[in-house]
Amino acid sequence: MIYLGEQLEALDKFYSVVTCWVKSKHLGRKKASNLDGYKCNDLNCSVCTRGLQKIEGYNRFFEFIIPKLEEIIKAKPDKMLQLELKLRADWWSNVSHDLNEFNDACSEILSNKGYKGWFTGTKGLNYDLAEWLDQHTCTFCNRQYIFTARKNAEEKGMTCQFDHWFDKGSRPLFALSFYNLIPSCSVCNSSVKSVTHFNTDEYLHPYLDKDISSRFKFSSIPNTATQYDITFLNEDKMDAKTKRTLDGLGTKLVYSKHSEKELQDLIDLRMKYSKNYLKNLLENTFDDKLNMAEEEKYRLIFGIELSEDNMHKRPFSKFKKDIIEELLKIK
Ligand SMILES: [Zn+2]
Ligand SMILES: [Zn+2]
Repeated sequence: MIYLGEQLEALDKFYSVVTCWVKSKHLGRKKASNLDGYKCNDLNCSVCTRGLQKIEGYNRFFEFIIPKLEEIIKAKPDKMLQLELKLRADWWSNVSHDLNEFNDACSEILSNKGYKGWFTGTKGLNYDLAEWLDQHTCTFCNRQYIFTARKNAEEKGMTCQFDHWFDKGSRPLFALSFYNLIPSCSVCNSSVKSVTHFNTDEYLHPYLDKDISSRFKFSSIPNTATQYDITFLNEDKMDAKTKRTLDGLGTKLVYSKHSEKELQDLIDLRMKYSKNYLKNLLENTFDDKLNMAEEEKYRLIFGIELSEDNMHKRPFSKFKKDIIEELLKIK
């Protein structure tokens, strides 16, 4: 998993669009026939520049959440469960004694209409958010590119999926919360992670834990004379939170098939021939006079980025960096 940084600029843009959508869905678009409607001040707002239908019948919920929208959208992951409890209690004591009504409204507005209908809909905000975040590979596995490219300015093309860290089925209140939307590949989002319910006490979070990629190292162990399996270095001594996170994300599983590919290639460079070609490549490929930085050598020879900030830009950066380091240590 890769740390995503604070992404404050993306957060502000996202918050402003979500606010416009929620308010417009409640009041309708402001026009001559609807003077009580809503329109934001941003001329390029992707909500204000398209057709929109008011959501009827959820007035009490809208009136309840609109003053708390900033808190909900910008909630830090480790404050989300607390916030959910607080809002439920507020709803219970001030608005209605019906907690089901609160949960149903969260599901309907924020998850069904909001996330599924609007965020990933025809002119999806998911494309915008992906561009604002500018992550090039899956946050969870760093194996697949997750580029965003559109056919035409307004049309769809390709983009990442957004995984809900707290799943939107059981926590619909956070279906549109910024730090709950993790850019990822389809394998990590829909197959591997979906079975685990994450929380920040027991699991690392890509918006909270700056040291994620240095908390573990990939390693290899022989399973026959010529074949190797991918594992983690000193797994038995790994701290519980990191281990649980890697298990929950299925990191070993999603990497397992790469033992015959990327891992084998690196091992061959080190072991297959009498010479250590791995070392040779790093030391002799480029003229010393070029004074080339390590980062550039690794990018040109192995197609990876060495620094943690840039790891997301190339698939397998973390994996290959760890394996190369391990192989170079063999005497
Ligand atoms: Zn707007
Ligand atoms: Zn992935």
